[in-house]
Amino acid sequence: AALTLALTACGGEGAGSGSGDGAAGNGDEEVKVGVAMPTQTYERWIQDGNNVKEGLEGLGYTVDLQFANDDIPTQTQQIDAMITAGVDALIVASIDGTALTSQLDAAAAANIPVIAYDRLIRDSENVDFYTTFDNYAVGVAQANALLRGLGVLDADGNETDEKGPFNIELFAGSPDDNNSHFFFNGAMDTLKPYMDSGVVSVPSKQTEFDQVATLRWELETAQSRMEDLLTSTYSGGEELDGVLAPADVLSRGIINALQGAGMGPTLEEGLPVVTGQDAEIANIKLINDGVQSSTIFKDTRLLAEQAVKATESFVNGEEPEANDTETYDNGVKVVPSYLLEVQTVFAEDIAPVLIDAGYYTAEEVESGQ
Ligand code: BGC
Repeated sequence: AALTLALTACGGEGAGSGSGDGAAGNGDEEVKVGVAMPTQTYERWIQDGNNVKEGLEGLGYTVDLQFANDDIPTQTQQIDAMITAGVDALIVASIDGTALTSQLDAAAAANIPVIAYDRLIRDSENVDFYTTFDNYAVGVAQANALLRGLGVLDADGNETDEKGPFNIELFAGSPDDNNSHFFFNGAMDTLKPYMDSGVVSVPSKQTEFDQVATLRWELETAQSRMEDLLTSTYSGGEELDGVLAPADVLSRGIINALQGAGMGPTLEEGLPVVTGQDAEIANIKLINDGVQSSTIFKDTRLLAEQAVKATESFVNGEEPEANDTETYDNGVKVVPSYLLEVQTVFAEDIAPVLIDAGYYTAEEVESGQ
């Protein structure tokens, strides 16, 4: 879906309006910003990239926006080229959060501030700011959505009389993405008491992060692992009730596997409860159609706005405003962060949360595009 966005909060000063207090927009000197995004296989990164670009251009800055096809050397080369071109700031959503140390050293040597976008860049003291969502809270929300989908919790998050027992399987994101660990920890901390009391159990016994991670967040990897699990653990008539899926693209792979094995095709017809993240339009249609149970909506417009604000602060020689200075230790330092909140979306939330807020139109939800 094409999103038309108004980044009013940060675009208010207008491009080149002559207010003259910043380095950009007053015609003196061009401000260039490099924006490195991981991939276009997830709709969200396309939106993130476009929103950031639009917001920065609204300030009169010039933007070099690059996507790296989830290939680490491509991303490092893109960032090297941005540094060589003399950008004034870098905004980076990393592929491998541990692979950018030499780029960040070069950026620091050239006095280029680096903003980690959504994903923390690890093992470097040269990460100046981090804009993201509350990633632990995403994991908590995913586990709660799974429990609610199973009927263990009600819509207000209170426990019902439903005690299962339910069979679930777990998926996590890419191991080189710092977020994956936060999502998984948030989810597991939430599920643990229900596992301990036997309300839910994981028949495959695959409950460690390393066993359930999905390298590069690839749909096909999740789909084939789900197919393998169905063969190894559920071919003797055992029932699978739910799957913790950490991102919508993976949810689609998992749902493909489940439907391919003859389950469903809808929740009403017995498809296991599958969670998600990102509110991708294809998945919102699946939720609307009663196939996927839930997703977690992260308003990328607000994230882009925060990254733009942080960039503007650096360009003006100021420190961006953080609302968290404790959580995100990248192995070398705690990176000052701005965390945004997320919202859980079930079918009934599509209209109030996504359509009314102008994120998608009713037509887009209907068509899934
Ligand atoms: C993001 C998620 C996204 C995932 C896969 C994570 O770092 O926080 O929103 O689903 O990457 O692209």
